[in-house]
Amino acid sequence: LCRSDSFSLSRQAKMSKPVQAQRLEGIDKNIWVEFVNLAATYSKVNLGQGFPDFPPPDFLKEAFVRAVSGQSQALHQYTRAFGHPPLVKVLAQFFGKLLGRDLDPMTNVMVTVGAYQALFCCFQAFVEEGDEVIIIEPFFDCYEPMVRMAGGTPVFVPLRLRAPEAGRLMSSADWELDPAELASKFGERTKAIVLNSPNNPLGKVFERRELEAVARLCVQHGALCFSDEVYEWLVYDGRQHLRVASLPGMWERTVTIGSSGKTFSVTGWKVGWAVGPDRLLQHLRTVHQNSVYHCATAAQEAVAQGFQRELELYGKPESYFMQLPRELQQKRDSLVQSLAAVGMKPVVPEGTYFLVADISEFKSDVPEDTSSNEPYDSRFAKWMVKKKGLATIPLSAFFCDAHKSSYSHFLRFCFAKEEATLKAANDILQAWKREK
Ligand code: PMP
Repeated sequence: LCRSDSFSLSRQAKMSKPVQAQRLEGIDKNIWVEFVNLAATYSKVNLGQGFPDFPPPDFLKEAFVRAVSGQSQALHQYTRAFGHPPLVKVLAQFFGKLLGRDLDPMTNVMVTVGAYQALFCCFQAFVEEGDEVIIIEPFFDCYEPMVRMAGGTPVFVPLRLRAPEAGRLMSSADWELDPAELASKFGERTKAIVLNSPNNPLGKVFERRELEAVARLCVQHGALCFSDEVYEWLVYDGRQHLRVASLPGMWERTVTIGSSGKTFSVTGWKVGWAVGPDRLLQHLRTVHQNSVYHCATAAQEAVAQGFQRELELYGKPESYFMQLPRELQQKRDSLVQSLAAVGMKPVVPEGTYFLVADISEFKSDVPEDTSSNEPYDSRFAKWMVKKKGLATIPLSAFFCDAHKSSYSHFLRFCFAKEEATLKAANDILQAWKREK
C-alpha cells in the first residue's frame, strides 16, 4: 500500500463509524420537537405544550425591568455561579420555612437553568453505568433519556387506574401507586427514584400514604429521591402539596426541584433550583460548574424579588401563590365542562396545568391502523390538530415503549390559558360534536 492508499482507507474506516456518541442511541426522537412543530403549522388553538398564554404578575415583570434598566451594572454580568446571592438567600428562607429546617443559602440551594437543568445535574451527578432509577409512569418524558445518557437503566412502575364510581367523573386520584408493585422494583442496583408531585401529565397530587411508601423504600434500600415539584403551588380543591423531603429519613437523601416558570408563570425565563443537603448538592455543583456554570443574572434578580414579596405575603389572599391556583382551578373546571359536554371523558386533575381526557368516543373519526406501530392517541392527536386545529399531546408520550400501547386512548390538554383560548377550544369541540 502506498501512503495515500492507507490514508484513504483509514479515512473510510473513520467515516463508517457513527459520528454520534453511543449514549445518544434511541433517544434522538423527541415528542416536543414533533408536536410543537405540528402545533405551529396547523393549530388554531394550542392546548399542547405547557405554558400560560396569560401574562405573568406585574410585580415580577417590573422587577425584571428594574434589573435591566437600573443603575446596577453588576446585574448585566456574571453573578455567583451556583446562584445569585439574593435569590439563594430568599429561596433558603422560603423553603426552610416550608421544610421546617434551617437552610444555608450557599450549600443547600443551587440555581439552575430551569428545572430541566436541575434534573440533568441529578442524573449526571449520581447515576452510573449499571445503576437503576425508578420512574413512576406516566412521567415527564425527559427523565428516561436523562437516565440513559448517564448510563443508568430506567425501571418503570405505572400508576394503576382504579375504576371510578358510576356516574362520577374520573379524577387524577383514581391513578394510584401500588406499594407492593413499587416495592418489587427496588433492589440492590436501585440508585434513585424520580418523584413528580403534582404530576405532569395527570395532575395527580400524591397522597401521604403513597409518599410514605416511597420514603420507606428509599430508606430501606439506601436510595436517593429526585423530587420534581415544579407544580408545587398549583393544587386545587383545598388539596395540600406534601414535600417528600419533610418525611422522616428523607431530607438527607432527597433533592427537591422547583421552577420559577410554573411558580410565577414565566416558563421562558428558565430559572429553576435544587434544594437539598450539602452532601448531595456539592455534587450537583460539580456538574453545574463544569457544564452550564451560570444562569442569567437579571432573571435571577427578578425572581429573588418575586420570592421576597411572596415571603412577606405568605398565606395572605394577595399572595400570587394563593391567587394563581384559584384562577387555574376555574380554568380547569371550564375545560372539564367543555370536554365532558362533547363526550371526551376528562380525568379531573388535583393539580398542575394539565388534564387528560379519554377520546374513545371519538374513535370513529380516526380509524385504527393495525399496520402502524404508532400509538393510537398519537395518530389521533396529529389528525385532530390538522383537521380541527386543536393541538394537544398524546398521553402515550409519557410512558415507556413497552407500556405505550396500554395507555393510548387519552390526550393531554393544557388549561393554563386565557378564557378566550379555552372558549375557542370549546367552540371547536362543540362544532365537531354537531358534525358527528
Ligand atoms: N418537570 C416537569 C414535571 C415539567 O412539567 C417541566 C416543564 N414542563 C419541567 C420539569 C421543566 O421545567 P423548566 O421549564 O423550569 O425547565
